Amino acid sequence: MDKNLILRQLPKMDAILEEGCLEVLSRNNRASAAISVLDAIRSDILTGLMVTPPGYEEILGRILEVGLTQPQSLQRVINATGIVLHTNLGRAPLAENAARHAAETSLGYSTLEFDMKTGGRGSRMLGLEQQLTNLTGAEAAIAVNNNAAAVLLVLSALCTGGEVAVSRGELVEIGGSFRVPEVIAAGGAILREVGATNSTRLSDYEGAINNTTAALLKVHTSNYRIEGFTKEVALPQLRDLAHKHGLPLIYDLGGGALIDLSHHEPTVQNLMAQGVDVLCFSGDKLLGGPQAGIIIGRADLVTKMRKHPLYRALRMDKLTIAALSATLEHYEDAQQAKEKIPVLAMLTSPLDKLEEKAKKLHEMLKGIKNCHVEIAETMSQAGGGSLPGENFPSYAISIAPTKISVAECADKLRRLYLPIIGRIHKDKLLLDVRTIEISDFNSIAWDLQETLED
Ligand SMILES: *Cc1c(COP(=O)(O)O)cnc(C)c1O
Repeated sequence: MDKNLILRQLPKMDAILEEGCLEVLSRNNRASAAISVLDAIRSDILTGLMVTPPGYEEILGRILEVGLTQPQSLQRVINATGIVLHTNLGRAPLAENAARHAAETSLGYSTLEFDMKTGGRGSRMLGLEQQLTNLTGAEAAIAVNNNAAAVLLVLSALCTGGEVAVSRGELVEIGGSFRVPEVIAAGGAILREVGATNSTRLSDYEGAINNTTAALLKVHTSNYRIEGFTKEVALPQLRDLAHKHGLPLIYDLGGGALIDLSHHEPTVQNLMAQGVDVLCFSGDKLLGGPQAGIIIGRADLVTKMRKHPLYRALRMDKLTIAALSATLEHYEDAQQAKEKIPVLAMLTSPLDKLEEKAKKLHEMLKGIKNCHVEIAETMSQAGGGSLPGENFPSYAISIAPTKISVAECADKLRRLYLPIIGRIHKDKLLLDVRTIEISDFNSIAWDLQETLED
C-alpha cells in the first residue's frame, strides 16, 4: 500500500488529546507524548520498517507509557514520608487562607505598589513589614525571595570589603550550593575563621576582631550536630563583644519558629530579645509559609539593605507577599497558628491523635488483598534542615506486599496520578500518617487497592 495512505490512517491529534484514558497526563505531556509516539510510527512507516501501523488502542497505550515517564512540571503528591519540611517535596504546604489570598490577589489587579489613601505609588512591603515587626518585636523588617538571598543581601549591604568573623563550627553547607564561605565571598566580604570545628570561645572572636572587621556572623548549623566535646559562645556574650567594638551581630537562623514548638530551639522573638542586630530566616521552614527570606533587626541596618541594588533583584513576588502576609495573620493567635498552619499542625500533633489517624487509615486498608497491612510505630522528622537530630514518635501504616516486591510497590505508588511517596524500611512500605491529610485517605485506599489487587 502507498505509504501516504498508511500515514493517513494514523489517529488525529485532536482525537487523541480528548481521550479519557490519557487524562492522567497533563495536557502538555499528553501532546508531547502523542507527538513523539506518532513521529516514531511515521518514521518507521516511511523507512519501510513498519508496514501495518498499530491499532488505536495500542497507540494510546504507548502514549500513556511515554507520557508517564516524561518529566512533569509541578504536580501535587501525597507526602507519606513523615518528613514535615521535605525539601524535595516542596517544604511547607501553605495554609488554606495563604493559598487563597495568593490566588485571589493575583487573579486580578492588586494594591502591590499602590497607596489607597493618596492614589499614588505605595510600598509593596509596607503591610508585610508591619506584620513582621509587630510579631517579632524587631525595629524593622524586610523580606526577599528566600533565605539564601536574605543572607547574601545582608552581607552585601553590611559587610562588602570587610571581614566577617564566623566560628569554624558554623561554616556549613545547606543543600548543595549554599555554603557559608562561598556566600560570604559572593557578598564581597572576607571570611575570618574563628576557633575550631568543635569549640569556639569568646576569646577566639575577640582575637579575630581588627579594624577591617565588618560583622560577627552566627550561622545555625541546621543540618548537622556536633556531639561530644563542644563549646560555643552564648548569644548575649557574643552580642556584648560585637557591640563593644561597634559591630553588628548577624544571625543566619535558617528555620525560624515564631511560636514555641516545645523543642530545643529558641523562637525568633527570643533571639531578638537577646540582642541580635540582624536575624534572617526562611519563610517556608518552621514558619510554614511560602518560600521567602525574612530579615529583621535594627532599622538603620535594614535601611541599608532596602537601598542596596541587590534588593531589587532579590525582591519578593506579589503571590509570595500575599501568601506570607496571610500566613503571618494566623500568628496573631498562637493556638490558631498551630491549627491552621499545616507545618505547625503536623509538628505539634499529639501522639494519640496520630494513633487515631493511623487506626482510621488502617481500617480503610486492611481488606486489601495481596499484602499485609499493619499499624507500626515510627519516627517522623521536621526535615528541611530544621530541628536537626530531633525525631518525633509517630504512627505509620506498614504495608508488606505479597505478590510484588516492596520496591516495585513503592515504584507503582510513585507513578499514580496523585503519587503517594512513602518510605521503605525493612522490606515494608511505611506510610507515616503525620504528614498525610485525612482528606487524602480515600484516594490512598482506592489507589492501593488498584495497585496491589491488579
Ligand atoms: C535553609 C537555610 C538557608 C537557606 O534558606 P532557603 O530559604 O532555603 O534559601 C540558609 N541558612 C541556613 C542556616 C539554613 O538552614
